[in-house]
Amino acid sequence: MPGLIVMKFGGTSVADAERIKRAAGRIVEKREAGHQVVAVLSARGKTTDELITMAEEVSAAPDPREMDMLLSTGERISCALCAMAINDLGHRAISLTGSQAGIVTDESHTKALILDVRAERIRGALEEDNIVLVAGFQGVSRDARNVTTLGRGGSDTSAVAVAAALGAEVCEIYTDVAGVYSADPRIVPNARKLETVSFEEMLEMAASGAGVLQLRSVEYARNHGVRIHCRSSFSEEPGTVVLAEGETMEQPLITAVTHSDREARVTLTGVPDAPGAAARIFGALAQANVNVDMIVQNEPASGGGQAEISFTVPREDLRVARAALEPLVGEAFAELSSYEEMGKVSIVGAGMRSHPGVAAKVFSVLAREGVNIDMISTSPIKISCVIDRDRVEQAVRALHSAFELSGEDTILVEDTFRASPTS
Ligand code: ADP
Ligand code: ASP
Ligand code: MG
Repeated sequence: MPGLIVMKFGGTSVADAERIKRAAGRIVEKREAGHQVVAVLSARGKTTDELITMAEEVSAAPDPREMDMLLSTGERISCALCAMAINDLGHRAISLTGSQAGIVTDESHTKALILDVRAERIRGALEEDNIVLVAGFQGVSRDARNVTTLGRGGSDTSAVAVAAALGAEVCEIYTDVAGVYSADPRIVPNARKLETVSFEEMLEMAASGAGVLQLRSVEYARNHGVRIHCRSSFSEEPGTVVLAEGETMEQPLITAVTHSDREARVTLTGVPDAPGAAARIFGALAQANVNVDMIVQNEPASGGGQAEISFTVPREDLRVARAALEPLVGEAFAELSSYEEMGKVSIVGAGMRSHPGVAAKVFSVLAREGVNIDMISTSPIKISCVIDRDRVEQAVRALHSAFELSGEDTILVEDTFRASPTS
């Protein structure tokens, strides 16, 4: 008997009335094939960006609780409209906010973590033969019972969490490209679609900028054994399935080139060369819930000298990071400077673990392109270089071609309604 399926539609896939009706049609098809269906929807097109702009127009530092009240409205609109469209197709549908759907989070506004999904209401609605629409990207905080949101791209995580709670047979992530590619197909049109990708590689890809799946959704899926199938909402072709390590076939050396053009670098000079300085600095940033990515510290060249620490944060976190560090000026470090126009390019591949020389090749490709490397970090299956933001696209193309990752040309849907990248 067909099982329960969770289908998630991203912003572009519900951007206008036509697309909402198309998503409704696909949901109904699954229902008519005998599945129980829960659909998680994102806000339409650029709605979330527009809501953020609205907040910034009235406040330089919008209150995080109110920000979440505002941002959560986008996905509610999509769900209510889609429920109407499904009803018109002769099926029963009910839309639920994240809170009504039982998505319980911690208290950290604008990047809340899901703690629990109390899915009784969804189950009850399914038993009454409804298609259930759940507003993505949001929940309710466990203690203060405030509306929270899950960070940009968070509807992916809503979908995976709902799929885990309901024991769904698959969580289908419908988006505006046909799956996970060897690079962002908007930058590399002949990037190759991956039929499968391991959790391990997908985690590194999502963490290094492949916004097609939010990092937390991949983590959640791995921890709860959810099968993710990322595919196009505009065609029937199969997309990319994220598999557990044991299920994947032998890995090629390099699987993908990923990038981010939303990095900021912070440099602290005059850091005392004594135990505890880094702990204070990064403790303050953790307290402020800032995601620090790459960290470089160099030892003072002469005895008694002072160290310098540089690190990167997502550009949208820079304001909060600076504010968290201000009180430590003159104590944990002497001066703070920051630069917003940074980007990052990474290569990811499980095969590189057993092959030396990959890093050297990355550096020589970037050198040949005249791209200066600002910072470097590695994991056993990833090499990342922080570079100038305006050289990112060139670096991605050069690396993709040097490691021979191409497939056939990708056909992209027109993207008038596309939201800005969500990683
Ligand atoms: P949605 O609104 O459906 O959640 P997103 O914009 O969050 O869509 O994610 C899809 C986008 O991710 C694609 O349009 C593509 O530009 C981008 N992307 C970045 N890296 C990759 C990759 N490696 N494979 C596929 N898409 C990628
Ligand atoms: N609407 C939210 C965003 O744009 C969440 C999502 O689309 O996943 O980030
Ligand atoms: Mg997304």
